[in-house]
Amino acid sequence: MFLVGLTGGIASGKSTVVAMLQELGCAVIDADVIARQVVQPGFLAYQRIVQAFGPEILMESGEINREALGSIVFSLPEKRQLLNSITHPEIQKEMLKQILKYFVLGYRYVILDIPLLFETNSLTRFMKLTVLVYCDPQTQLSRLMRRNGLTQAEAEARIATQLPLDQKVKLADHVIDNSGSEEATQRQVLKLHSSLEDSLDFLWVRFMAVTAVVGVGGLVCFLLQRLVS
Ligand code: ADP
Repeated sequence: MFLVGLTGGIASGKSTVVAMLQELGCAVIDADVIARQVVQPGFLAYQRIVQAFGPEILMESGEINREALGSIVFSLPEKRQLLNSITHPEIQKEMLKQILKYFVLGYRYVILDIPLLFETNSLTRFMKLTVLVYCDPQTQLSRLMRRNGLTQAEAEARIATQLPLDQKVKLADHVIDNSGSEEATQRQVLKLHSSLEDSLDFLWVRFMAVTAVVGVGGLVCFLLQRLVS
C-alpha cells in the first residue's frame, strides 16, 4: 500500500475533489475529522488539554470549547506549540490505525486529506505522492466570500493565514487545477484516479508484509520443532 497526501488552500476545492474521489471508491482519511475526534471526552488528548489549559476551557457539557481554546492559542505561540505537542501524536496514532484498517481490507493506496500538509510538513515524507487542489487567487477569493458569506477583507485575512497556493504548487507532485468548471475538475480527478489504480507501488509494502509474516511464522515453527524434539 502507499499513501497519497491531498491538500489545498481554503476554498480551493479540496472537499469537492475528495467527494469525487470517494464516489470513485477511494479510501480517504480526513485529518480534520480525526483532529475533532481526539479532543472528545474519553480520549487521552482531552485529558492532557484539560490538565494543561485548566477546566475553564470546558463547556457545561464537559466538551472542550474549541473557540475559547482557539483564541488562547491564536495569540500565544508557546500555547499553540503546547496544544500541538498534545494533539499531533494522538492524531497521527489515529491516522495510523485507520491506515492499517485499510491495509488489512486490501486497499492499494489511501488518500490522506490534510489541509495544512505543506504548512506542517512533518507528514510529507510518508507520502508517495502529494496532490494539491489549486485554483487561481481571484477564484479562491470569490468562492470563499460566497461560501462563507464573508466580506473581501475578511476572506483575504483568512487566506493570508495559509501558505499561498502559488507556493504550494512548487511543493506538490501533482496539481489539480480547480479554477474552471466542476466538469473540468472531474476530468482531472478521473485521470489521477486511473494513474493511482494502475500504480504498482503498493506491491512493495505487500511484499514486505508477506516476508515479515512468513519470516516470523518460519521462526515460530523452527522454535516449536526444537522444543518438541
Ligand atoms: P475547500 O474544501 O478547499 O475549502 P470546497 O470544495 O468547499 O473548498 O469549495 C469551495 C466552494 O467553491 C464551495 O462552495 C464549492 O461548492 C465551490 N466550488 C468548488 N469547486 C468549484 C468549481 N469547479 N466551480 C464552481 N464552484 C466550485
